Amino acid sequence: MFEQAGENRSGPTEGGIGAVTKASGNSDSPFLRPPHPSLTLPAQRDMHVFEWTRSSAWGPIVVDLMSDIVTDQVVTSLRKRPPKYFVSDESSWLDEATLKAGSFQEPDCFSVLAQRLPSVFKAVVAYHACRPGAPHIVAAEGLRVLDPRRLQEDALALFDAPEESILASIEELDVATREGVVHLALDDVFLIQRCGHYLIYGSETMQGIAANLQRRTGRDAFGALRSRGIPTIFVCELPLQLLDPGDVLALAATSLTKALESTIAGHPPPSSIDFTLTLKKAVPPHYIVRHYHPDVIPNPHEGYRPCRIASASCSLCSA
Ligand SMILES: [Zn+2]
Repeated sequence: MFEQAGENRSGPTEGGIGAVTKASGNSDSPFLRPPHPSLTLPAQRDMHVFEWTRSSAWGPIVVDLMSDIVTDQVVTSLRKRPPKYFVSDESSWLDEATLKAGSFQEPDCFSVLAQRLPSVFKAVVAYHACRPGAPHIVAAEGLRVLDPRRLQEDALALFDAPEESILASIEELDVATREGVVHLALDDVFLIQRCGHYLIYGSETMQGIAANLQRRTGRDAFGALRSRGIPTIFVCELPLQLLDPGDVLALAATSLTKALESTIAGHPPPSSIDFTLTLKKAVPPHYIVRHYHPDVIPNPHEGYRPCRIASASCSLCSA
């Protein structure tokens, strides 16, 4: 029921974005500050945890990691001729600028940063939204991938409907495509504000079963999903090695794009972001660092009308 839910850099910061922006004198953006002293010598770096909401921490690091490629000249040229859109799903806008400046490195800027991120960041903070009946079991067992046998047991125990209708409702879902993955988000605010159905009703698969069952029987099935468990956000620190390489690349692309856009536009990166990590494996319990229970959740099934949670605590809270 808890389906979920040898560095290749040439050097220090001189000549990178930090140096350019330092000269500009604008200290409002975190990217306009001088690079952190610990970044000047790779051997002296501390390992950091990437947390999206702390852009003042990761921004200068990302900028510094690319300072040999995204040089002053590159930033100046982007400032003079900014791309129509700072997009993170393709890097040609940035690669072309580095090519012109003579600093381009194969295969592309986003991939280069993806290779370099683990040299500084040991983990990324990610959030999982669910409605567990027993949060202490999740804390003890970790975030599990979908297990069709357990799903069936849970559904049979949860819904007050004929067994054949429940089994047919499960059969109707393409469960095979949902097996073996756990979804987490980089931003818990976005998760709560836009994806509250995972908190209010539980996993997408169980919601699918409820929808099928409701159609078959004509009786409310979503009420059962709301009747058990407690909306919970599990906060994880995931080692970068645990992530899918595609997600590490997306993280590199998004962070670099937002850092550059911020530097050139003179404002901080957005505090909220829609960014999903899809792990093709379970999350072991020791990567869950804490949990909490949102008490007001906009319900996407009801036009984002606020859903207020009466009792927002569990046995884990007082443990
Ligand atoms: Zn709790």
